[in-house]
Amino acid sequence: MPIDLKKLKVNLEKKRSATAGFDIKVGENLIRVLPRSSKFFTGLDDDFCFEYGLHYNVGVDDETVECLKDSAGKGHCPVCSAVKRLYDTGLSEDKAIAHKMRMSRRRILNVIDMKEVDKGIQIMETGPMIYDKIAEVVVRAELFGDVLDPVKGRSFLLIKQPAEETKNGFVNYTVTPMDPKDMTPFLPKNFNAELDKLEKHIPAPRYTAEELTILLEGGIVEKDPESVAGDAGNTAPEPAVKAVAPEPVVSDDKTPKGAAVVADKTACFGVGFSPKKEECKVCEVKSKCVALFMES
Ligand SMILES: [Zn+2]
Repeated sequence: MPIDLKKLKVNLEKKRSATAGFDIKVGENLIRVLPRSSKFFTGLDDDFCFEYGLHYNVGVDDETVECLKDSAGKGHCPVCSAVKRLYDTGLSEDKAIAHKMRMSRRRILNVIDMKEVDKGIQIMETGPMIYDKIAEVVVRAELFGDVLDPVKGRSFLLIKQPAEETKNGFVNYTVTPMDPKDMTPFLPKNFNAELDKLEKHIPAPRYTAEELTILLEGGIVEKDPESVAGDAGNTAPEPAVKAVAPEPVVSDDKTPKGAAVVADKTACFGVGFSPKKEECKVCEVKSKCVALFMES
């Protein structure tokens, strides 16, 4: 029996949302960013988050898939390759398709919600805007000290301003470092082990390069919702792959048919957003579109 893709997607979304522990609320949030691992205390760690890439709107079912390049941009990812080739054609319709599939960088951090410290160490997933603002403070040790340090570090006042309250119609975040504060009374006993859990939450790629190529060409890759390509191991059976109407996304044809199915629905996706447009206000993919638009 063919797999029910709608159910598959629901399951995957559940898995994804399980990663995002800390939810940024509208208004004031007070968070303490902690090291990404216990290696911090050895002086051998030089970052405070783990990053990975996602591609949205891949294939006929608009899937979100993990980028196969590593954080340094090394490795082969068929989606990145397709995006580059689409941009290279110089055609506006190709650019629109490329824009909505291009890699979005996401990052996960260990945080404590200072308004709900009982929840312990939580994972915060964030895009570039909040990350950049926190990073600006973290790297300025001469001004702020070591903000990640549990004893001498600082919390951040993170204010989320909803789109309807900003002048440009986009959600806005401000990040302000607070006075240093000793966090040790609020930390769990197994503090180091809790910090080290973060790395396990980096999403493992669910699709191999070959499977991503099939998706890009309009095919369907059947997956067990619980399986991921990254932990398939050597003994896992080959995934059942069924190519359906394999039209190439990138071709000499000026209107690539494989992607046109998606493009027809939201040709403006990620490029034509305006908070004042009526069609944007009621658009079902508004939040993803705005996220892409903001990164451009
Ligand atoms: Zn990629």
